[in-house]
Amino acid sequence: MKGEIISVGTELLLGQIVNTNAKYLSEKLALLGIDIYFHTNVGDNEGRLKECLNIAFKRSDLIITTGGLGPTADDITKETVASFLRLPLIENKEAKDWIEKFFERLGQKPTPNNYKQALFPEGANILPNKNGTAPGCIIEKDNKIIVILPGPPSELIPMFEEAVYPYLKSKTSEIIKSRVLKIFGLGESKVEELVKPLLFNSNPTVAPLLGDGYVTLRITAKGHNEDETLKMIEDMESKMRGILGEYIYAVDKENMEDVVVKLLQKNNLTLATAESCTGGQLSGKITDVPGASKVFKLGVVSYSNEAKESILGVKKSTLENYGAVSLETAKEMAQNVRKIAHSDFGISTTGIAGPTGGTPEKPVGLVYVGFATNKDVYVKKFMLRGNRSRIRARTVLHALDIVRK
Ligand code: ATP
Ligand code: MG
Repeated sequence: MKGEIISVGTELLLGQIVNTNAKYLSEKLALLGIDIYFHTNVGDNEGRLKECLNIAFKRSDLIITTGGLGPTADDITKETVASFLRLPLIENKEAKDWIEKFFERLGQKPTPNNYKQALFPEGANILPNKNGTAPGCIIEKDNKIIVILPGPPSELIPMFEEAVYPYLKSKTSEIIKSRVLKIFGLGESKVEELVKPLLFNSNPTVAPLLGDGYVTLRITAKGHNEDETLKMIEDMESKMRGILGEYIYAVDKENMEDVVVKLLQKNNLTLATAESCTGGQLSGKITDVPGASKVFKLGVVSYSNEAKESILGVKKSTLENYGAVSLETAKEMAQNVRKIAHSDFGISTTGIAGPTGGTPEKPVGLVYVGFATNKDVYVKKFMLRGNRSRIRARTVLHALDIVRK
């Protein structure tokens, strides 16, 4: 089934509100296997809305409109759809009762224009609105389905879930599922090159996307039932894992810190951090995860040399001979914080986040991440690009990635 969404509202065109309804509906419709090919925004204007309906009617099986169901004169969606379909508007008794009851609960009386909301195109199937006065409706005409929904998300979402979703489910036989694989440590073009043959697959499809600091691959499968669809996704995921291995660090909504905390929890291991250039962002990320208290023991933000020396016990000679941003300092920071915290692992960050402070030998973006265990300590050097906040954020990701591996 091919569908499209027409969002009606001048506020949308003026940039005063964001079209969250279209996003919400598209996500839900995808789960039903309905292909959404177009999103249109149009103002509260009869002529222009008719133009959109005219185009939509030619190319889609399902048209969903949102907004413009209010009682005021500028709300014209239902009237316009009725006129476009050449259907008379007829008062619906049930809708009239709901509206009266709604006002009764508020201790108010409906005004004459509220009764406008009880008028529907002839033959429409009315959708109750528990959270407002504007009922929605579904019209079937000429093998097309038109669904008219109110604008406020607090009304649209429950109405969609309770009435529209089950209705559309009964009309479609396919379901779509998708899964997102998150990749860190490989650039987008490298990922694309590695999985290239799979990108031309038609079901499931695989689409690469550049996230903030990571690359994602979205696998989308269409099938006739849950099990079939899931199996298609899992088969594709295992092919991807065969190619990308441990570069895949998380699935769907999970992020790097979730994975790290989970892994430490699972293995009964603890962590302590000694941060310089990331200024606490690393420990912040870790402690964002519920349950982090089981695995995170101590975080030190040792921004000055003095603090590195007096609190973490980095040797004065190390700081003097190699500087704060050095392999040697990163190493001692990681080792020492681990000892102080009595944790299994110690991780450290030290680098030049910029924009100033770089030298030819130690340019902006030079970062060391140290990782200490009870046996070993190792330090990884990075040359990161971007502005200060990007360098700091990337350092945090790299540090978490090291713990993960
Ligand atoms: P009302 O009875 O409140 O007038 P309505 O069905 O006529 O509802 P609109 O007047 O178009 O809907 O919009 C009412 C409010 O709903 C907007 O001010 C906005 O806050 C929200 N809204 C409308 N359309 C959208 C949209 N596409 N995405 C997110 N929010 C929206
Ligand atoms: Mg309105």
